[in-house]
Amino acid sequence: MYQMSGKDFYRDTLGRIERSAERLGLEEGIREILKYPRRVVEVYLPVRMDDGSLKVFWGCRVQHNSARGPYKGGIRYHESTDLEEVKALAALMTFKSAVADIPFGGAKGGVACNPKALSRGELERITRRYTAALANDIGPYTDIPAPDVGTNPQTMAWIVDTYSQLKGRKVPEVVTGKPVSIGGSQGREEATGRGVAICAEEAMRHMGLDVQSASIAIQGFGNVGTYAALALAERGCRIIAVSDSRGGKYDPRGLPIGALLEHKRRTGSVVGFKDGSDIGSDQVLEVECDVLIPAALQNAITGGNANGVRAKIVVEGANGPTSPEADEVLRRKGVMVVPDILANSGGVIVSYFEWTQNLRREYWELEEVREKLERRLTCQFKKVLETSDEFGVPLRDGAFILGVKRVAEALETLGLFP
Ligand code: NAD
Repeated sequence: MYQMSGKDFYRDTLGRIERSAERLGLEEGIREILKYPRRVVEVYLPVRMDDGSLKVFWGCRVQHNSARGPYKGGIRYHESTDLEEVKALAALMTFKSAVADIPFGGAKGGVACNPKALSRGELERITRRYTAALANDIGPYTDIPAPDVGTNPQTMAWIVDTYSQLKGRKVPEVVTGKPVSIGGSQGREEATGRGVAICAEEAMRHMGLDVQSASIAIQGFGNVGTYAALALAERGCRIIAVSDSRGGKYDPRGLPIGALLEHKRRTGSVVGFKDGSDIGSDQVLEVECDVLIPAALQNAITGGNANGVRAKIVVEGANGPTSPEADEVLRRKGVMVVPDILANSGGVIVSYFEWTQNLRREYWELEEVREKLERRLTCQFKKVLETSDEFGVPLRDGAFILGVKRVAEALETLGLFP
């Protein structure tokens, strides 16, 4: 799979912001503010490794914009992460929060390391060092991190503990995506996948498709893919194809998702499941279906394979799974693409619910979280559709225009200090 460099990714993101600002006729100064981060903090983290050696890891936190609320965004542990990539991801968070209409700005953090090659102890020491280095930059009213690629609820627990020890009081609200046992929210784990399912349902309604008999293909059977599959099966859809990095399964009558999940839990893959025929990991992208959900990695649908897509709707579970060339091919074929910035915003929406519960010392039941997520996403889906219609552009551009417009409005209302 082609991986865009951090530099290209950042340039592409700046281009999207620029085009949206142009369509909205924003003044030059506001455009400049929207394009660049407010703060970039780089840290070098000395960490004692298990073998006794001392290593220094590079990390950063990029705070893009806080006009609508405290900075918010995940922390990525990946060996190829760099400042340009994190800057792009931070900007995307600003607009993702704005499209979801939650009171957050955008930020992102990164540490250049390979978490798969590190022990639990090494990961814990890196995380605690990173938190200590940034203890005056993050906080429940300033900048609230969350998990991203390579980090998880356990990472968030170490951050809560380190930050709380340094501040001398318990501050679970400094991060979201925590384990439920230390103040995480019900429904956070399933939120992104469930949000993808809600968007898929809205898109099908818009296209006049019958949700009850709809066929779905999903690439990637991890956190996002599995919860999207479960939520869509709950809605009566047939999940006809799924794949993970090792291979896939196909059955036009629909795969039994519960049993397939059980098999995946036992063996680590969908490969070898008793029902359905075997297909390749990427073949799932070319299956004839109503909705295709790429929920694995970026750049899954490219100029090279977009012509083979036989879905009526693509709902982006992953971040950036459709390349700009593929986007153009799909547009010409009349395929509706629900963009990542809207489709996978369920995670940040429930992160907002988690933060709210923590600040109020409240605890919401799962049903309440699910209901609030559904209400918010369906409402914002309609707003994105309206914006796309108003400007005569595809949903991806519509979502960006809506996000940029909301942030620009906040900036103009706040004015400049001094
Ligand atoms: P995950 O690691 O849990 O799952 C990824 C899945 O993709 C795995 O099943 C893996 O086997 C599969 N995969 C990898 N390469 C593949 C290939 N070539 N073909 C088919 N399958 C392949 O990750 P996740 O948390 O589900 O995230 C998936 C995507 O969604 C990422 O792009 C991530 O950035 C994005 N995302 C996740 C969240 C979240 O809350 N988890 C939120 C927003 C966006």
